[in-house]
Amino acid sequence: MVQAFHYSFDMDNYMTKERFSQFREFASARETPFLVTSLGIVAKKYDELKKSMPYANVYYAVKANPTEEVLRLLNERGSCFDIASVCELDLMLRLGVNPGRLSFGNTIKKARDIRYAYERGVRLFASDAESDVRKLAENAPGSNVFFRILADGVGADWPLSRKFGAQPDVIFENILLAKEMKLNPRGISFHVGSQQLDVTQWRSALKTCKELFDAAGKKGVELDLLNMGGGFPAHYTHPVKETCVYAAEITDYIREFFGEEFPRVIVEPGRYMVGDAGILVTEIVMISNKERESGIPWLYIDAGKFGGLIETLDECIRYPIYTDRTGEANDYILAGPTCDSMDLLYEKNPYRLPSGLREGDRLFFFTAGAYTQTYSSVFFNGFPPLRSYVID
Ligand SMILES: *Cc1c(COP(=O)(O)O)cnc(C)c1O
Repeated sequence: MVQAFHYSFDMDNYMTKERFSQFREFASARETPFLVTSLGIVAKKYDELKKSMPYANVYYAVKANPTEEVLRLLNERGSCFDIASVCELDLMLRLGVNPGRLSFGNTIKKARDIRYAYERGVRLFASDAESDVRKLAENAPGSNVFFRILADGVGADWPLSRKFGAQPDVIFENILLAKEMKLNPRGISFHVGSQQLDVTQWRSALKTCKELFDAAGKKGVELDLLNMGGGFPAHYTHPVKETCVYAAEITDYIREFFGEEFPRVIVEPGRYMVGDAGILVTEIVMISNKERESGIPWLYIDAGKFGGLIETLDECIRYPIYTDRTGEANDYILAGPTCDSMDLLYEKNPYRLPSGLREGDRLFFFTAGAYTQTYSSVFFNGFPPLRSYVID
């Protein structure tokens, strides 16, 4: 059977046909490109995670989709938040979120930003460097600190490897230093890489956590906090295991290393929470053939790398694309509308879409609720930032 789009409504319980009609109705009167996020789907994702990991505290990673309505909804449901900057802190405080429910999860911080957060009531910080521990001790005295270990990001479609975290021996020294400097070393964190498809990556990270808990314990520092970061997947073109399957396996790993006495567990989902909730609606600007005989046609749309689709870098994230056209499928190279030649979406691995596509047709990028709107450029080439709407 020829597949005219990369999405099967039956496969997935978030984007049902009914929900999609709701999106489409909202989208019909608006000019493309834009993002629409469904609050109903975000709520469902949050509830499902809480149900699958009732012992975990959810700290939503604000950067994934900082739309106010999304943040308000999660706040009402009892979520805490992982913030990375002074601006995200101000946003959360403006929405009335108690600073006790915020975690400053960015390991790269200026001393004055640490102080700013501390003065406003933030008492939980991530750290992965000696210099940062010293800055924390001076500007956020007595605060709770968790220490981030390196994870290599193997198995992740969007790895965060190398930049964050440090080797366990460095972390161990930092824990002792923090204690000495009268901070409150609480635990260990890691991030297995975003869109992590290999659940066993949590196991190796948890093993290292346990080793550090034990080593610190021997020096009289009792750690009790496990921050398992993000990495839980959204539904792109690759099939992924359901949330409850991930959760059950991860819970088993925790039990394997920590026994029945779980430490306090934090998860920081970003992509998982909002990815499936968004659709980025685009229009075909031009279809062209660059060679007379053979060659794959180019399909230029009105959103690209600078219009919210930056995660197509290296063709890492492959969004399911829906079109109303049906019929025989053809390979297409997809590109954005700007005058930068890196504004290409999929060339190495072209997309199969119906051969009847015409300029002016709409392409719906599913699973676009995470890492799109705030990643769009301010005004490159005169294209405004991606507009963003929410629906119930
Ligand atoms: C970005 C980020 C997350 C969210 O990661 P996802 O893979 O989107 O779930 C969680 N924690 C930290 C510290 C982050 O920087």
